[in-house]
Amino acid sequence: MAVSREDALARDAADPLAGFRERFELAGDVIYVDGNSLGRPPKATGEALAALHERWATRLVAGWSEWIELPLAAGELIGRELIGARPGETLACDSVTVNLFKLATAALDDRPGAVVTDRGNFPTDRYVLAGVAERAGREYIEIDAPGELPDTKLALVSFSHVDYRSGALADMAAITAAAHARGALMLWDLCHSVGAVDVKLGEADLAVGCTYKYLDGGPGAPAFLYVRTDHQGRLRNPIQGWFGQRDQFAMGPAYDPEPGIARFLSGTPPIAGLVAVQAGAELVAEAGIANVAAKARALTAYAIELHDAWLAPLGFELVTPRDELRRGAHVALAHDEGWRICRALIERAGVLPDFREPNVVRFGFSPLDTRFADVFDALDRARDLVARGVHLELPLERARVT
Ligand SMILES: *Cc1c(COP(=O)(O)O)cnc(C)c1O
Repeated sequence: MAVSREDALARDAADPLAGFRERFELAGDVIYVDGNSLGRPPKATGEALAALHERWATRLVAGWSEWIELPLAAGELIGRELIGARPGETLACDSVTVNLFKLATAALDDRPGAVVTDRGNFPTDRYVLAGVAERAGREYIEIDAPGELPDTKLALVSFSHVDYRSGALADMAAITAAAHARGALMLWDLCHSVGAVDVKLGEADLAVGCTYKYLDGGPGAPAFLYVRTDHQGRLRNPIQGWFGQRDQFAMGPAYDPEPGIARFLSGTPPIAGLVAVQAGAELVAEAGIANVAAKARALTAYAIELHDAWLAPLGFELVTPRDELRRGAHVALAHDEGWRICRALIERAGVLPDFREPNVVRFGFSPLDTRFADVFDALDRARDLVARGVHLELPLERARVT
């Protein structure tokens, strides 16, 4: 099909999920292609937070009788609808970083061997895994990319399911099987895949993930963690707080953890954040994760088509895999002038992507609120400004948040 805006509009007209866009706040007329960093606010979230404020005002501390269930309820929703978990395996709590620490520490307490991740993994993942390995006196190994594992005794293998920079999707089943063959527990980071890819955790042992990206939970919304049922009685939460205690309000003398997933709670959960997580995850669940993932593949395929036609001749290089089964919902384009192109898109063209060192512009296409016309406009404006050299007018210095 010829490249034209009419074609983009025809794709939107045929999109079964198109109606979900109006369920979000759409203030401003920026073309938002950074939903993989922070999703847009669902309208339902504002209502849910107002309702919480009302419950707090009227019920005061008695409100805890309902709020206390939220980490399990929000976790269950994510587990059941979005990542292929069984009941009682998922919990919404803490940050991704803290959950990584808890699960990685529990894994090393459980068995001997080294820790493996990849050099390109997200910084917090590498920092936490290196720190946990050092504390436990274990070898910490970084390989080039998720895949071939070192031929040595391993305790824990941890990769991101979708690479935050390139958008590459790892082969979860094959890598999990390889980790098991080395005697390791497999810990997946789902930050860039949950809500964008139809995740099937299968035999995976452990997982963590983010809710403020494709699940639209809002800035700093609590994360989630997953522990496969057969490990729950054995693995111990290293932050043994009172919310993981079997009979919490007995206020007993010694720590005696819950037998199930609740043992991975630590302290008082952030209720406003959890209310927002639930509202965001419900929207994705309502659309159906298989449908959402199919739209992500279509949006990214369209972006790659436009890149080939317009941007490759201008010095861009596609970093994201072309195989639609090997990528998430963002497309990464490298360019020597990536930083200034990204700034020019934001400051001069009304397009909001983000930049990752050293030279990558990321276009994230959150499936429920991104139109094919947005993909068209974002890449069309990139083409226009690079062709005219507009980016060369911008400063080379990096900002505090990129
Ligand atoms: C976004 C992201 C994180 C963020 O961790 P926080 O604890 O929420 O700051 C971690 N890992 C990956 C792969 C991410 O994409």
